Amino acid sequence: MRRNFLKVTIISLLGFFFTPLKVVYSQSKKIFNKNLTKEQKEILFNEATEMPFTSDLLYENRLGFYHCANCGNKLFSSSAKFDSGTGWPSFSESLPGAFKTKVDYTFGMKRTEYHCAKCGAHHGHVFNDGPSKTGKRFCNNGLCLIFIPSK
Ligand SMILES: [Zn+2]
Repeated sequence: MRRNFLKVTIISLLGFFFTPLKVVYSQSKKIFNKNLTKEQKEILFNEATEMPFTSDLLYENRLGFYHCANCGNKLFSSSAKFDSGTGWPSFSESLPGAFKTKVDYTFGMKRTEYHCAKCGAHHGHVFNDGPSKTGKRFCNNGLCLIFIPSK
């Protein structure tokens, strides 16, 4: 499992360095939030990945919901969040209908990529090595999420 995490980290880092070369954002995705930073746009619309261990959300333990930074769609409950040790916010399950998935073969590795069902923005990849009963590990870029606490 550790080895797999390392492999994923390296591939994600490669993705981070190479994706800025692609400058045209996909036409099927729509920018709702006009205040998105350049880095957020690279991840949401150009499939880039943020550097691991950079998200403040890794340390977010309050009750609440995680929303799409672009359109505000409610994606995860805090009850599904866990510390995977990978450096990205991780969840055992998404809220029903929150995402659409697509198989991604970048760098010769088969991974399942997921996009916001409402705006089409890229959020991360889902793996089948999660520790909980769902067996899933949603590996989400923190910059794509906005946390709204319940109280
Ligand atoms: Zn969205």
